[in-house]
Amino acid sequence: MSRDPRYDILFEPLKIGPVTAPNRFYQVPHCNGMGRVYPNAMIGMRGTKAEGGWGIVCTEQCDFLASGDASPYAETNMWDTGDEIYLGRMVEEVHRYGSLAGIELVHNGHDTPNLYSREIPIGPMHRPMNWSLAPIQARAMDKADVRDYRRAHKAAAIRARDIGFDIVIVYAGHDGTVPSHFLAKRHNQRTDEYGGSLENRLRLYRELLEETKEAVGGDTAVVVRFAVDEMMGPDGLEWHGEGREAVEMLAEIPDLWDVNVSDWDNDSKTSRFAPEGYQEEYVAFVKQVTSKPVSTVGRYTSPDAMVSAIRRGIVDLIGAARPSIADPFLPKKVEEGRLDDIRECIGCNVCVGWTQMTAPARCTQNPTFSEEWRKGWHPENLPPAQTDDHVLIVGAGPAGLEAARAAGLRGFRVTLAEADEELGGRVTRESKLPGLAAWARVRDYRVGQIQRMANVEVYRESRLTADQVLELGADHVAIATGATWRRDGYGRHLTSPVPGTDQAHVLTPDDIMAGRRPPGTKVLLFDDDHYYMASIIAELLSTEGYEVSLATPQATIAEWMKHTLEQGANQERLLDAGVDLLPNTTLLAVETGRVLLADSLRRREVERLADGVVMVTSRMPEDGLYHDVLQALDNAPDAGMRTLRRVGDCQAPGIIATANYEGHRYARELGAEVDPVIVPFQRERHVIEPATS
Ligand code: ADP
Ligand code: SF4
Repeated sequence: MSRDPRYDILFEPLKIGPVTAPNRFYQVPHCNGMGRVYPNAMIGMRGTKAEGGWGIVCTEQCDFLASGDASPYAETNMWDTGDEIYLGRMVEEVHRYGSLAGIELVHNGHDTPNLYSREIPIGPMHRPMNWSLAPIQARAMDKADVRDYRRAHKAAAIRARDIGFDIVIVYAGHDGTVPSHFLAKRHNQRTDEYGGSLENRLRLYRELLEETKEAVGGDTAVVVRFAVDEMMGPDGLEWHGEGREAVEMLAEIPDLWDVNVSDWDNDSKTSRFAPEGYQEEYVAFVKQVTSKPVSTVGRYTSPDAMVSAIRRGIVDLIGAARPSIADPFLPKKVEEGRLDDIRECIGCNVCVGWTQMTAPARCTQNPTFSEEWRKGWHPENLPPAQTDDHVLIVGAGPAGLEAARAAGLRGFRVTLAEADEELGGRVTRESKLPGLAAWARVRDYRVGQIQRMANVEVYRESRLTADQVLELGADHVAIATGATWRRDGYGRHLTSPVPGTDQAHVLTPDDIMAGRRPPGTKVLLFDDDHYYMASIIAELLSTEGYEVSLATPQATIAEWMKHTLEQGANQERLLDAGVDLLPNTTLLAVETGRVLLADSLRRREVERLADGVVMVTSRMPEDGLYHDVLQALDNAPDAGMRTLRRVGDCQAPGIIATANYEGHRYARELGAEVDPVIVPFQRERHVIEPATS
């Protein structure tokens, strides 16, 4: 197949200062939880993006001074020559596929507590630092500090050029860098030439840009990464105010304007809170005030939306972080006319969540992300099966679908049996909840792939029993029958059944998704899950006219959502929907028409009227079939089944990304002897200095 000429414009080279990008696919800097901590894994991941056709592949933020140490986050750093080795290897991998390598120089200023370096944080003013709310203050930079800072930035740009980077990004975005702190009125009340007017607050950024251009501009492109709107009204930059004026003042200095909105929560909104291309309205003005090329992000996964953004004169380059994580081969697939093969990002921010927990990022759509080097997993190619063994997979949720897709791709004969008429399991159910429609992409991508495989047969409305499983005579059987939500309240905080939860007016998310509703008008949700489910059901029931209360033992509503950058937006939505939020509250008992709660802060019992209750605490594996098959095998030892496994939620309930990963892993490992007590991946090793005498 070849490329549809409609998309030709995405493959036109673009001159960016002294360098030329081979196409319009720009993998913007993005955190990934590997960086300097797991450098080989980071290099493997970046190289894979270049192989997949991203014309520009950048580092995540790279701090260049020990006083801007991003620890404990696993970002890159470039403090001295020792760091050149791994950054150089990344450049080499990116160049191997003809892409340009970019580096984003950063100093997080008063945001970072310098947990590793113990240096005193710096910024425009004396003030407490932000991240982790550690009891540490940043000190105001004096003139000498500003000079040192500029000197270090220039030296970093030169070092980056010498390492081989083609693009140096001077970063003032996300409300998280020294130049953006200087620029923001709320952070900068200085009275010297770096404070006061916009021109003064922008002075440091202008100096950094000009000095970078002067130092390396002959060889490398100098890119501005800049937030034009902070989405906080007049308290911050606005695209029609100082955001625009700042762009006008610096318009022709950089070789490329990479513009977005700030802070990170706003820049990386999930699909629940913002559609594809949502930043366009904020950044559309930029091309009108500069002759330099412009790029933005906005979770673009559709090549039509990309072409449209270019044709409408909004951008010249399509910036992408999450779409490049979900499908590192997106550009190649467009180029080869394989649009149906694109694995579209669902906008869930699980990748961000793992990064925020300082762990290698996981992706709901792409199970190979972070595993490119560690496990040698290529996102597109799997090792061919050495046999034509027959694999039976029972259950077509994300685990079963991915196991079938990957085993099919390897060339096994695959039978996928699903009890329901619809495929997709929990993904199908959850994607019908408010705001989660894009999650159906997890199912749609896999079903689309499987449908084209002659060696994969799918049987719907086929609830298998153990006898039927044996009768099918497969060599390998995977049971991927999922999990169900508990009704009894067992979870993180409560480890014995809550009295009264066996009554008919106590429901679970499975009931709600199956269309059941609580009686009456007043409903209490008990959330000991702390992710999206309770909040979304609260939103749903509230729009249906229920009076909803949401109780959680944590001090914060849906606390884990702070990792996916959604906690604030989620809570705002609940408040807008009129949901009564009850933090620090545990469920003691369910009675008829009321519940008993414990206010854990004030250590007292509270009574509340409730006609119905929805328990969102934890799930139990649906592993009955697995145990039945085990037993049946005991009675029929010569059935011919060589392996039997549980996969996905049926083994241990988790997030969709985990089910997908486990399904993929199952298919990868089929036919191989895997010793479960051996570390199942390559490890990063530190160099240990010899003993000093
Ligand atoms: P996971 O997240 O692990 O993929 P899901 O709960 O999303 O789990 O999917 C499990 C799927 O298994 C559901 O679609 C369910 O209908 C199906 N299923 C459960 N039991 C059987 C069975 N005995 N035979 C066939 N399919 C089954
Ligand atoms: Fe997209 Fe979710 Fe994957 Fe992140 S984890 S890239 S948001 S699908």
